[in-house]
Amino acid sequence: SRTYRLDRFIAKHTDHSKNDVRILIAKGRVYVNQTVAVSVDQIIKQFDEVILDDEVLQKNTPIYLMLNKPAGVVSATSDPQHTTVIDLLDDHYKDLHIAGRLDRFSTGLLLLTNDGEWSNSLSHPDNRVAKRYIVELKEPITDAYGDAFAKGMHFAYEDITTQPAQLKQLEPRVAEVTLHEGRYHQIKRMFGRFRNQVLSLHRVSIGNLPLDDALKPGEYRMLTRDEVVNIT
Ligand code: URA
Repeated sequence: SRTYRLDRFIAKHTDHSKNDVRILIAKGRVYVNQTVAVSVDQIIKQFDEVILDDEVLQKNTPIYLMLNKPAGVVSATSDPQHTTVIDLLDDHYKDLHIAGRLDRFSTGLLLLTNDGEWSNSLSHPDNRVAKRYIVELKEPITDAYGDAFAKGMHFAYEDITTQPAQLKQLEPRVAEVTLHEGRYHQIKRMFGRFRNQVLSLHRVSIGNLPLDDALKPGEYRMLTRDEVVNIT
């Protein structure tokens, strides 16, 4: 989300010109976050409250949702063919973006927010935020898988080697996989190396935040303040 200098911000949101703003400020008519503005070059961010006289020019509240993504719904804001996760939300949430997509047939924990800094820090590779998945396979898992996941695999198309990932076998054909990055179709491709097809893929946590198991597929709720702050 972008930032503006206060004079540009006021020119953008009112009939005043950029040059008027110096006078408005001198007269004490502009407030930023309940404090009288003193400088035209103050930087206004997405969640700063800006008031001119009695008019609120901006008052955005950060929003954080967790959704239990159903299969068949796409992690996109618009799609000509399929239902998107945004379609599942109430109208006043339509301008949220997705923090960490899931493939169309994947299910489970999906985060939505209007806070770009928060979502960037979750998906930034340097932060290595753990994402945990329950994966059901077509064929039984063998001992070789865990080593290969931990060692990393070379993806020729992107010419990258995957970061160490953890695989824990839960049943003959079910594993818990932990990734610290999110490459295109990463889990399907990693099991594909063993010619083993992923039948279902369900994300159960991101960082310290588990999917709330009270949420049925397609349902969502706000994160608590605690969940937002302590996710990593
Ligand atoms: N890996 C995949 O292949 N798909 C997902 O949705 C997530 C990780």
